[in-house]
Amino acid sequence: MLPKPQIVNLPVYQPGKPIEAVKRELGLTEVVKLASNENPYGCSPRVRAAIEAELANLSIYPDGSAVELTEELAGYLGVNQDQIIFGCGSDEIIALIARAFFLPGDETVMADQTFSVYKSNADIEGAVSIEVPLRDGTHDLDAMLDAVTDRTKAVWICNPNNPTGTIVSEAELTAFLDRIPGQVLVVLDEAYAEFVTDPSYANGIRLLDKYPNLIVLRTFSKIFGLASLRIGYGVGQPAVIKLINQVREPFNTSRIGQAAARASIADHDFVADCREKNAKGIKYLNGEFERLNLTYFPAHGNFIMVDVQAPAQEMFEELLKLGVIVRAGFSKYPNSIRVTVGSESQNKKFISALEQALQQRKARV
Ligand SMILES: *Cc1c(COP(=O)(O)O)cnc(C)c1O
Repeated sequence: MLPKPQIVNLPVYQPGKPIEAVKRELGLTEVVKLASNENPYGCSPRVRAAIEAELANLSIYPDGSAVELTEELAGYLGVNQDQIIFGCGSDEIIALIARAFFLPGDETVMADQTFSVYKSNADIEGAVSIEVPLRDGTHDLDAMLDAVTDRTKAVWICNPNNPTGTIVSEAELTAFLDRIPGQVLVVLDEAYAEFVTDPSYANGIRLLDKYPNLIVLRTFSKIFGLASLRIGYGVGQPAVIKLINQVREPFNTSRIGQAAARASIADHDFVADCREKNAKGIKYLNGEFERLNLTYFPAHGNFIMVDVQAPAQEMFEELLKLGVIVRAGFSKYPNSIRVTVGSESQNKKFISALEQALQQRKARV
């Protein structure tokens, strides 16, 4: 066999542990998963009926260009229909961008640390990822600009940044966009945009008219609570969207996913309610971290990175034994875990487990 050389040593993605496996392995009856930034409130109650109505059509291929969903989403976002592309999660849009733009040896600039999917897809295409260290957990846009060369095809900005949860402001972002060469694609990943309450935050979609080299990624997996249905989207100028459409598989989203997404965007109250509860959860967790003398990055999505003052992998194992799954393994932050903001009771369970784990560790060392 002769695989592409760039994929031979590529690791297989290691997902967070499923709840059922943790229960079985550790003999626990109650496990809280705060590892994958899923919505603790599920999805809009309107989704069930929308899915049930689609069940009669499971044998029929979906609408490959998602015409009705596109129409409704364009109205919701205030863009034209030819500015939107859907994917099997926004993960797929990331893969399609890499597929459409990267040749072996091309360069692509991203933060270190950020969402790992940018680099893995660049690797698959043989592109070189230039990883620019975060400053205080935040994208260093000046340094990223300095890292752009005439071989740079795309720059990735994750806002809020996963895993640190920080944002760049609209002023910082537009200063960056004003200076970056127009032939470089700027991918602004706004998977958590709907959670943000900070007034300095940019709605990237409002910037598309001024910056034709910008594409914004959003998803139904996070605040809309449809992670299992795999549907996300990109918004950009028609010329950019067309290029990405040219490398898209014909039926990359399902009927069920499209129907659920349509029902979700119509339910503004659900989104507003989740945003409000999430903001309260952040406040509660921040207060508890301060009480425990732990430092954390300012969180703007539905997750917080907190420094647990111990090897994160150890804390991960301790918390797991106490029935709480979090995320560890961020190479730049070996003493930090990322925890999803859960419901009130999940957050309390996490804090009590964290406190117990910290005390146990103190007693040991
Ligand atoms: C969750 C997430 C996504 C995409 O999720 P999909 O389920 O594939 O839509 C994209 N970017 C970031 C930063 C994320 O955290």
